[in-house]
Amino acid sequence: MADEKEIINKLTSGEIKLHEIEKYTQSVPEAIEIRRKFMETVSVGKLDNVSHFSLDMEEAMKKNIENPIGAVQIPVGVAGPLKINGEYAQGEFYVPLATSEGALVASVNRGCSIIRQAGGATVRIIDDKMTRAPVIKAESVTGAMEIKQWIENNFNEIKEAAETTTRHGKLLKIDPVIVVGRYVYPRFVFSTGDSMGMNMVTIATETALRLLTNKTGAHVVALSGNVCVDKKPAALNLIEGRGKTLVAEIVITRELVDKKLKTTPESIVEVNMAKNFMGSAISGSMGFNAHFANMIGSIFLATGQDEAHVVEGSLGITTAETKEGNLYFSVTLPDVPLATFGGGTRLETAKECLEIMDVFGAGKVHKFAEIVAGTVLAGELSLMGALAAGHLARAHQELGRG
Ligand code: NAP
Repeated sequence: MADEKEIINKLTSGEIKLHEIEKYTQSVPEAIEIRRKFMETVSVGKLDNVSHFSLDMEEAMKKNIENPIGAVQIPVGVAGPLKINGEYAQGEFYVPLATSEGALVASVNRGCSIIRQAGGATVRIIDDKMTRAPVIKAESVTGAMEIKQWIENNFNEIKEAAETTTRHGKLLKIDPVIVVGRYVYPRFVFSTGDSMGMNMVTIATETALRLLTNKTGAHVVALSGNVCVDKKPAALNLIEGRGKTLVAEIVITRELVDKKLKTTPESIVEVNMAKNFMGSAISGSMGFNAHFANMIGSIFLATGQDEAHVVEGSLGITTAETKEGNLYFSVTLPDVPLATFGGGTRLETAKECLEIMDVFGAGKVHKFAEIVAGTVLAGELSLMGALAAGHLARAHQELGRG
C-alpha cells in the first residue's frame, strides 16, 4: 500500500487517476480523505466542511457517486402540518424542504396553514409512467415507415422482451412513434412501481431494441433520442405527462383569504391571469405557474430524488378563479418523476426525510406523490397571495437578506 503523500504526488503527476485511489488504500474512508486532500492542492481554500458527513460512502459508491470527496450540506427545514385529502395520502403531514433560499420554508408553511384551515387539499394522481425513446435509423423513409409499422404490429412481443429484465417495470404502450425523415423515435412508456424508473426502463428498452434490430435490421443510433424527454423542459411532457401527473385543489373562503393572505380572491385571480397565463404565454414559458420549481427542488434535495428532474417538475399550470365569492385555486403538475425506492432514496438522509412523511420504500410512491402535489399547492398559494397583497419584496427583505 502506498502512503498518502506518495498517492497525492502520483495524482498530481497523473500516474494515478482520481478513481483509482481505492486500489492503493485499505478502506474507502481513507481513499476519500486522500482524494479530498489532493483536491485541497488544487483548491484556493480548505475543504474542512465538505469532509463532515455521516453517509455510508462505501455503500453510496455502489450506486450513487463516483470519486467522492465528502458531502455538501443544505439546510433542511419543515413545513406543515399539511392537510391532504388524497386517495393515498390522507391526514396531516410535515414536509422536509432542503434549500438555502430564505423565506421559502416560511412561505410554504403559511400555505400549509391556510390549506389546513380551509379543510385540506384535494389531491389526485392523473397518470403514472416513465418513458424512454430511442432513435432508430432506417435506409429510407419507406424503411422508417416499415419499422414504425413493425413496432405497432408487434407490441406484445416487444413487451415480453422488455419485461424480461425487470420485476416491477411493465411496458404500457409505445406511443407516439414519431418519424422524421428516415429516423424513427418510438416512445416506450412503462409503469415502474415505487422507483423513479429511469435505469429500469433504459435496461428494458435496450433489451426490446435487440429484438427489433434482429427482426427488422434497424440501426439504433442512440438508446435515448430525446423524445423521452428526460431532464429537459418539453411540450411533449407537458401534454402527455411523464413521471407522476398530479393535480391538487383548494377552495378558500373570502374571509380566510383576507385574514391570512391580506388580499382578495379577485386580486389573486388577476395576478394569476396576468402573470401565470399571459406573462408565461408571451415569454414562451412552459411553466404557467409562479414557482413550482421551488417546492419540487427543495423536496427533491431533501428526499434523494434525481435533482435534474426539477426541470420537468417546473412544468405545469396554476389556476385561480372566484367561486361563489371565494377563491378556487389549483395546481396541475404533468411531469414529476418520483421515487420512494431506489436511486438516491437509499441515502441515509433521504431515507430519514422520507420517513418524516412515512413514504420510504415499497408501496409508498403514490402517497408521496400526493404530498408533493399538496406542498406545491401550498407554496404556490402563498406566493400568489403575497404578490396579490404586494408584500413579496418585504418578506424577502426580512427573511432572506443579510
Ligand atoms: P434503480 O435503483 O436503478 O432501480 C430500481 C430497482 O429497485 C430495480 O432493480 C427494481 O427491481 C428494484 N425494486 C425493488 N422493489 C421495487 C419496487 N417496489 N418498485 C420499483 N422497483 C423496485 O432506480 P431507477 O428508478 O430505475 O433509476 C433511478 C436512477 O436512475 C437514479 O439514480 C437516477 O439518477 C438515474 N438515472 C438514470 C438514467 C439513465 O438513463 N439510465 C437517466 C436519468 C436518471 P426490478 O427492476 O427487478 O423491478
